[in-house]
Amino acid sequence: MRRMNPRELLNAWHIEPKKGLGQNFLHDPNALARIASSAEIGPDDTVVEIGPGTGALTEVLARQAARVIAVELDNRLEPLLEARFGTVGNVRFVFDDILKADVGDLTDGGPYLVVANVPYYITGAILRHLFESQPRPTRMVITMQLEVAEKLVAKPGDLSLIGVSAQFYSKPRIVTKFPPAVFYPRPEVGSAVVRFDVYDVPPVQVPSEAAFFAVARAGFSQKRKQLRNALAGGLALTSDEASALCARAGIDPQRRAETLTLNEWGALARAFAG
Ligand code: SAM
Repeated sequence: MRRMNPRELLNAWHIEPKKGLGQNFLHDPNALARIASSAEIGPDDTVVEIGPGTGALTEVLARQAARVIAVELDNRLEPLLEARFGTVGNVRFVFDDILKADVGDLTDGGPYLVVANVPYYITGAILRHLFESQPRPTRMVITMQLEVAEKLVAKPGDLSLIGVSAQFYSKPRIVTKFPPAVFYPRPEVGSAVVRFDVYDVPPVQVPSEAAFFAVARAGFSQKRKQLRNALAGGLALTSDEASALCARAGIDPQRRAETLTLNEWGALARAFAG
């Protein structure tokens, strides 16, 4: 019997896709294969999937990995997923909000990869949650809105807080782009697959993650302002104190946050903490 695509599965189970949950299901076999191959999954790997939906990607992952742990918020999909994967021994579904789930606990503290076509409305929150989890994933391959993907891989001149954070924790790169037609229903935006090779230690020397993100968050807190003013506002400093902080880091206080390199954010963090 021909395998049902997501639209047919949803119809059969009388489930309407919910826009509010970012439900755009991948139905293109080539797109699914491309995502999985980008993750370079080995036969001993544990893969965490976020939002399995109707299980299209889950099925591909389960064929390649030792085990798949798939976290899905929408309980309506439970009977569909249980029926589809009931006899597949290496897949476990957890019905929970990924932002509340302790990924380290789910994977028993061992190494794991994350492969997911995430709900676009919470991409930033999901990335932050994963980068802050203990242990962090070794590698992630995430399908997301193209515009967000471009921010993650941006270079100094176009950097934003989300790009600085992603590049602090990992080396992100866009693997491929998908048109809306590979999804059902079609999203209104273009999509991209981003692979993140997560660092064991950050690529810049920092006194602490907290200090690094305190200065970065402050620097980006006021759009298009000079660094001095943004840092003063975000760190509750006077303008002179903020200028002195920049001087200690060897950075022109009139520059704008988006132009700083990761190393310069590191220098600011050291000057701030020291
Ligand atoms: N992986 C499937 C695919 O590619 O066809 C579905 C991807 S769809 C873009 C996103 C999935 O994430 C949906 O199944 C949605 O219900 C689920 N989801 C939404 N918010 C979630 C959350 N906070 N935690 C876990 N899953 C969530």
